[in-house]
Amino acid sequence: MTKEITLWPASGLLLLTLTFGCTPVAKQEIPTDSGIPGLVTDARWQQADREPHNWLGVGRTYEEQRYSPLTQISDRNVDDLGLAWVYDMGSKAGGSATPVIVDGVMYITGPWSVVYALDAGTGKQLWSYDPRVNPEDGARGCCGVTNRGLAVYEGKVYVGVFDARLVALDAEDGSVVWEVNTNERDNERRTITGAPRVANGRVIIGHGGAEFGVRGYVTAYDAKNGEQLWRFYTVPGNPEKGFESKAMAEAAKTWTGEWWTQGGGGTVWDSMVYDPTTDVIFLGTGNGSPWNRRIRSPQGGDNLYLSSIVAVNAKTGEYLWHYQTTPGESWDYTATQPLLLATLEIDDKPRDVIMQAPKNGFFYVLDRQTGELLSADKFTKVTWASHVDMNTGRPVETENARYENGPQLAFPSPFGAHNWHPMSYSPDTGLVYIPHQQVPWVYSDEENYEAKPGTIFNLGLKWPDYPEDPEVLEQILPMIKGSLVAWDPVKQEKAWEVEYPTIWNGGTVTSAGNLVFQGTPTGQLYAYKADTGERVWSYNLGIGIVAAPAIYAINGEQYLSVLTGVGGALSRIAGPFAAAYQARHSNRVYTFKLGGTATNPPLPERRPQPPLNPPARNAGTDAVDAGRDLYARSCMRCHGEGAIAGLMDDIPDLRHSPLLHSGPGFEITVLNGRDGTYMPGFASQLTSAEIEQIRSYLVKRAHDALDQEKDQ
Ligand code: CA
Repeated sequence: MTKEITLWPASGLLLLTLTFGCTPVAKQEIPTDSGIPGLVTDARWQQADREPHNWLGVGRTYEEQRYSPLTQISDRNVDDLGLAWVYDMGSKAGGSATPVIVDGVMYITGPWSVVYALDAGTGKQLWSYDPRVNPEDGARGCCGVTNRGLAVYEGKVYVGVFDARLVALDAEDGSVVWEVNTNERDNERRTITGAPRVANGRVIIGHGGAEFGVRGYVTAYDAKNGEQLWRFYTVPGNPEKGFESKAMAEAAKTWTGEWWTQGGGGTVWDSMVYDPTTDVIFLGTGNGSPWNRRIRSPQGGDNLYLSSIVAVNAKTGEYLWHYQTTPGESWDYTATQPLLLATLEIDDKPRDVIMQAPKNGFFYVLDRQTGELLSADKFTKVTWASHVDMNTGRPVETENARYENGPQLAFPSPFGAHNWHPMSYSPDTGLVYIPHQQVPWVYSDEENYEAKPGTIFNLGLKWPDYPEDPEVLEQILPMIKGSLVAWDPVKQEKAWEVEYPTIWNGGTVTSAGNLVFQGTPTGQLYAYKADTGERVWSYNLGIGIVAAPAIYAINGEQYLSVLTGVGGALSRIAGPFAAAYQARHSNRVYTFKLGGTATNPPLPERRPQPPLNPPARNAGTDAVDAGRDLYARSCMRCHGEGAIAGLMDDIPDLRHSPLLHSGPGFEITVLNGRDGTYMPGFASQLTSAEIEQIRSYLVKRAHDALDQEKDQ
């Protein structure tokens, strides 16, 4: 591979000639700080290390290492880090985005896919854009109206909207330049929460929705006008309709039964990384739809390309290679987790690798040219597989891993040993910093499963009931652990680990100042020495953090910024684990610098719950049990496991609902939804009798909570 770079300084601009492989790029001007907002060109992207003061994309550069070369803030002076400014988005839903900072302007997304442009030095709002998602569509997704970020390119800002639109905005004023609907048909349950990626004149986006019975794909659009360039499906459709590509024909050989009737899944809802030297985009694909392979593909099979890293030609959308982390996925073990490119010294040779720590608990290092698996090892407690066989590249599954002979307690859980929270890599230490969590789960088959694509969960297994059983919960809780793991990807071993009192901790960022930063859902922001893990700074925001910070500089002054507000699956679903996090909840951008003296604005009030005051128990065990299963499929993803609401205090805890006293009132609310909130109507999903069973279950759970209060 030839790689030739020549630079001439000319009248304040840099001119350069780039030759990447056999596709030479013509002489291009690099108009850094040109005065034209968001003018990020391919040349700037490819030379991102020449402008360390900017954070050009969610992962900073195409490698997405989330590493800042800036050194002003270091392990020697981090003590002096103070608050520079705070911007309040005025919202309270999930805050998951990493900001993008270009030439003094910060572009960031809040919940409901709202975009903000801020003066990165002061936090003053320059403009904002609200795509006005229909509130009822807020319950479309599995995990809230969160958004993980945007892309800035050639003077435009690209955002994927929760209702599956892709919008291009003018970076100068936020006005809409073009907008497309990425759905194939009306009424599909696709949602976009991930950041688009931009490269070579294209903007590329996937979507979520595997729990609701969709077929995964990724689409590339012309960045200038939104014209569709290609679409790459991640799982095959109905063979009778013909396959879209050779890759789909090959994939179909690994599926059985009538998988297409249930969607298939494999959604690319978060990570994609681009390699400009080869013009390849790497996709991280998600779980099967439904989760349980026995139902999805009854005679078995690997079910390509679920839970895989797939390399795709970014120009044509053609399949190049794949590595499947979890063949025959049956546990919600997505491989959508952050992908990261680096050059590692392996066996005394530099290797261009792609790395991932997906939900399934193994850390993978692959050659990114060929897809060759270089190594795979457990970075957490893993019980579903003993190891990855390096001869076959396949995991070796343990006894009853697929819960075919009865319920199976397993590590990791569907929440993942590592979820979407970005990991980072420091070329100085050679370590990867993983927001790790250890959560057990009981997998059990659902014999009488009935697929109902639409607004309810389609998992094909029974949701475990231990969150509702105080005795079992007491046994489970000590097994739960959250930590920051510094992982050596060459040795495939842990360099150091810092434990937290909770799981669902924030994404990480690292810097040449020998620092790694991470926030927690309990409202702390920490700095550690990147080489040793020694904690060298902390700041109590009082507001939960799950997003990753970004690092940038303006006029020679270095800043660190992070979005607050918890969000995503665990914050909503895992009530019993999440409810104990006492931090407040609000979407604010907190920005720090050395010597910063701003004060933390008053914390938002918690929304009080009505008192626990249920009516008398109104049904027998069978109806309550039936109500429990219906609740798990229809209500739990917002209102929480075991009817214990999670961290999202804009969503009521139904055990406290005054509506429990009124069968007809409860029914009308569930059937019709509630205007102005994201409570959708379930008229096409649930019958009156079923809604009454759900109410009976909630009444029972309210009494459980009362009994528990009396015990304490
Ligand atoms: Ca999933």
